[in-house]
Amino acid sequence: MTDLPQVSRDSALIHAATQRAAGEPVVPPPALASIFASQGDPADGLVYARSGNPTWTALERALGSMENADAVVFSSGQAASMALMLALARDRERIVLPADGYYNARVLAAQLRPHGAEPVLVDLLDLDQVGRELRRGPAVLWAETPTNPLLRVADLRALGRLAEAADAPMIVDNTVATGLLQQPLDLGAIASLCSLTKSASGHSDLIMGAVLTRDEQLLGDLRSWRTLGGGIAGPVESWLALRGLKTLPLRIERQSASAQAVAEFLAGHPRVTAVHYPGVAAQTRELARAQMPRGFGPLLSFEVDGGLDAADAVIAAARLIVPASSFGGVESSWERRGRWPAESAPDGLIRLSVGVEPVGDLIADIEQSLA
Ligand SMILES: *Cc1c(COP(=O)(O)O)cnc(C)c1O
Repeated sequence: MTDLPQVSRDSALIHAATQRAAGEPVVPPPALASIFASQGDPADGLVYARSGNPTWTALERALGSMENADAVVFSSGQAASMALMLALARDRERIVLPADGYYNARVLAAQLRPHGAEPVLVDLLDLDQVGRELRRGPAVLWAETPTNPLLRVADLRALGRLAEAADAPMIVDNTVATGLLQQPLDLGAIASLCSLTKSASGHSDLIMGAVLTRDEQLLGDLRSWRTLGGGIAGPVESWLALRGLKTLPLRIERQSASAQAVAEFLAGHPRVTAVHYPGVAAQTRELARAQMPRGFGPLLSFEVDGGLDAADAVIAAARLIVPASSFGGVESSWERRGRWPAESAPDGLIRLSVGVEPVGDLIADIEQSLA
């Protein structure tokens, strides 16, 4: 956790690692080291860089400040997910996941089956179904909201209550919202997962992940899985992620406003048959506003008439928006999500990540692409 005085989240993100002593670089440089000078008991301090690196520690302080928690960073979001699934699978038979969430979570859970819990797919908006599945045996609830790529919003407080009643730990994949927009640990989650590859770092130049928790046992287990499994983050990536994190509030504010405008534009376009964004989904808009009061972030998706081929043609026609996967970067990008074989989204769904370009340029590019 951060040892800063009580300051806002946004200030903590900027100052979590700044140095103030005369002659010190204000921003600590990346510690490029595999070993640190040491002798005696290796449990004391920095020894070998698979167990610890001061650049991770700086990043972990900043990340933790978003949810008043401890953070553990990993080499990718998937490495973070694997550590979490393995840590929580002990003595548990089932892992209950959303059928429409990030597809690699489902693929990973299935692949880990010989070493852990059986994956069970549910609709997180169907609380009766979730409750029923949680009561069938010792389980973990792996929630995600808003979901990638359909941006469906689940009620975390209600899910947290169901999980508690079933004595099941709830984890929340918070990648789409980030800890800036949504704080799952305040709503009943034992852990909050974030792929730092996306909005958190925001510059499309690194792959990393993190888990945030306030649970000491889980924290120790996650660190142990990281050290033994070796899914550690590099110091340069950590340094870049910390640099990106400082401007997260600025980027997200702009991206949320632009994504809302783009979603409204798309909703009124004759070629668009569906738009998925928390700010335009009538059924869950009030819940989304309560759960994410600062905005809904850069990610949205939509469907065009003509299906798969029409969607590919729209993406190919763009002059500004980059054809690419991932989201949350300063540069807008889009992809036809169904091109990934394990994805369950509709074939013609386009997932758009709204960058920080002026929104007029983006809407003009979308308009000419749809034409
Ligand atoms: C990208 C993503 C992940 C995995 O993160 P990587 O950094 O790519 O390993 C997990 N969850 C969600 C929701 C994602 O979008």
